[in-house]
Amino acid sequence: MTHEELKQLDHQYVLQTYGRFDVDIDHGQGATLYSLDGTEYIDFTSGIGVCSVGHANPRWVEAVADQAARLGHISNLYYTQPYARLAQTLCERSGLAAAFFGNSGAEGNEGLIKLARKYSFDKYGKGRGTILTLKNSFHGRTITTLTATGQDRLHHSFFPFPDGFRYAEAGSLDALQGAAGHDVCAVMLELVQGEGGVIPLEREYVHDLAVLCAERDWLLLVDEVQTGIGRTGTLFAFQQYGILPDAVSFAKGIAGGLPMGGFLVSEKCRDVLGPGDHGSTFGGNPICAAAAQAVLDILDEDTLAGVQKKGRCLRAAIEAMGLPCLGATRGLGLMIGIEVKPPRTNKELAARLAQNGLLVLTAGDALRLLPPLTITQAELDRGLEILKQTLS
Ligand SMILES: *Cc1c(COP(=O)(O)O)cnc(C)c1O
Repeated sequence: MTHEELKQLDHQYVLQTYGRFDVDIDHGQGATLYSLDGTEYIDFTSGIGVCSVGHANPRWVEAVADQAARLGHISNLYYTQPYARLAQTLCERSGLAAAFFGNSGAEGNEGLIKLARKYSFDKYGKGRGTILTLKNSFHGRTITTLTATGQDRLHHSFFPFPDGFRYAEAGSLDALQGAAGHDVCAVMLELVQGEGGVIPLEREYVHDLAVLCAERDWLLLVDEVQTGIGRTGTLFAFQQYGILPDAVSFAKGIAGGLPMGGFLVSEKCRDVLGPGDHGSTFGGNPICAAAAQAVLDILDEDTLAGVQKKGRCLRAAIEAMGLPCLGATRGLGLMIGIEVKPPRTNKELAARLAQNGLLVLTAGDALRLLPPLTITQAELDRGLEILKQTLS
């Protein structure tokens, strides 16, 4: 099949909900992708932060294939080794107490919302179900997580939206207290706002916010769907902020490309959700769990230290180019935003880079880089070379 034939097929039969780049991908290896006609692309996207250990990573392929040959699915009504072992690994490496597995980031965040509301209901009764979130946040595309998302531009067309969310300006404790009230049970936030433009929260603000949550008995819910699983150079970003949240969601990078999401809870919350309170048919299925176990094995302390180093080098190299269309870089680890200077737009630059063999993402008004955490120096150099040649 040619690129044009594939495009035509897609437009005829697929619901056109994505503004796709004019690129098809057939296969990949590491951080290098190949289209149907063999064109090579350097991947600074990892899906959207999903293929954390690169494409066709041999340890990941082996784990998936072995588990598929043994047991592909069984209901969560039965015990399985991959599920329990993965939960153990995540708890031991995060300092949290217990895990729940679903299939996506939005589903993980739905779990956090249910957890916070039930925690509060069990302790205080009705009327305390409101969750504070931050402006410019992104928490998902289900009706409830879309409501939790603090971006008015996304709150259209799908009325009625559910009650129970209020938004505060990120970075201001006063704004948060202004939005508070006796009806609040939790605060949910991303430590680096991803879709909003790769904007890290200030350490001091996060610390003060955690203190406020503890004082008011609001659960501190951290959405690590994008920042989690090594993306920022520690297994979870909260580990760099010196806080221990009450619950944390994860998804994108966890299973290296297979659909998996979920959440971890602290000791305080381990008994909030009991039998029948929450569930997921596919959640934590053995193949995804085995894939995630392989991802976590690959992302050992050395690899995570490498993520921080690669992130610093990548940002320094881009800033040193002094390209007229780009401004400062920001982010944590290999989650990097690059300011785009008008009249150029991030969409236009991303499309030109794709034409020249480098895949990058956009977020807010910025370019966003989320390369595989295992990207090699040679692939990084090749990507930087394309960036420089295209944007000079
Ligand atoms: C991508 C993302 C989500 C939504 O994840 P899905 O798997 O698409 O449901 C939620 N929160 C954050 C921070 C994200 O980056």
